[in-house]
Amino acid sequence: MAFCTKCGSNLPEGAQFCTSCGAPAFDSAQKTAVNDVSQNKVFAILAYLGILVLVPIFAAKDSKFARFHANQGLILAICAVAYGIAYGILSAILFSIFPWYLWKIPSLICTLLSLASLVFLAAAILGIVNAAQGQEKELPFIGKYRILK
Ligand SMILES: [Zn+2]
Repeated sequence: MAFCTKCGSNLPEGAQFCTSCGAPAFDSAQKTAVNDVSQNKVFAILAYLGILVLVPIFAAKDSKFARFHANQGLILAICAVAYGIAYGILSAILFSIFPWYLWKIPSLICTLLSLASLVFLAAAILGIVNAAQGQEKELPFIGKYRILK
């Protein structure tokens, strides 16, 4: 049974528009999806704010929309942590192989490497924009992986 989301009147199955008020009609599956997005948007946005990804993972388990974004946020957070560790190790190595009077060289390389972290920032912003617009859009490269079911 379908109901108009605007005026609540009964709609014939498969109707495109409400027969009493003219609003676009949703079937119950679409309506569930629309409700899911509007009720869980905040959780989906939190997914891209670092450690706050834990909030949708544990508090919005039943939301398909929040789950989709929590999955991407989690992968992004893991990649960012892995990058941070790799950066730490690499900078330690660089500073130990160059003699002290050439400190500017490892320092410059580290500055350039740290710019790469802007990629994570850009990906997080992209994810937040998608979540805020109610879209389940995959992030480039990492979005196709599924960690969370
Ligand atoms: Zn209506």
